[in-house]
Amino acid sequence: MEQKKTVLIVEDEKNIVDILRFNLQRDGYATLEAYNGEDGLSKALDENPDLILLDVMLPKMNGFDVCQSIRKQGCSVPVIILTAREEETDKILGLEIGADDYITKPFSMRELIARVGANIRRTAMAAPAAMAGSLLAVTDDLSIDTDARQVFRDGHPVELTTREYELLSFLAVHPNKVYSRADLMEQVWNYGYVGDDARAVDVTVRRLREKIETDPANPQYILTRRGAGYYFSTRDAVLT
Ligand code: CA
Repeated sequence: MEQKKTVLIVEDEKNIVDILRFNLQRDGYATLEAYNGEDGLSKALDENPDLILLDVMLPKMNGFDVCQSIRKQGCSVPVIILTAREEETDKILGLEIGADDYITKPFSMRELIARVGANIRRTAMAAPAAMAGSLLAVTDDLSIDTDARQVFRDGHPVELTTREYELLSFLAVHPNKVYSRADLMEQVWNYGYVGDDARAVDVTVRRLREKIETDPANPQYILTRRGAGYYFSTRDAVLT
């Protein structure tokens, strides 16, 4: 029997934890709980959950700081931020500091369960099948180990979040093909719809450029085709 996936709930409001636990368990997940940021961080690092639902306003340490600390430890577990407000700044900040997704309170339980499933499936998905070996040499100085899900720049490992990795590997195995934000939301985020969520693509591209490009303002790998979308360029890499 397949082992249950574990969701860590970091939330200080007990009634929200109760309803999340109930619905997640009914959907076949195991759950862990933390009622403050510090406890959430230590459980995230010690208990190896498959996904974290992370409230922003928490005692002892806020959700953004928790998320940032998780990433600093090199942990790439999918994180869904639970924001209390509809504010764009909260959403974007969450993605900037390495969260994979966000959902606004009050949320529909169906939507939340769907997002949990999508984020866990994406992480579990095997690398694109088109590749023969596990090491995809993208360019002279950039390579992707699809077994270890690790990216190397000039031979040095680059720390990417799950989403950043998925986006890069998706674009890299389809070099020079332009994908719109909506395409990427569907292919990489596994969402069958887009709204202002497409902003998440821009934020993830920017973060990825900061990590893999020599000059993020003048990228050579992940390029923008104005009005169309993004593509992974192998042509420019060869020229430089
Ligand atoms: Ca709270």
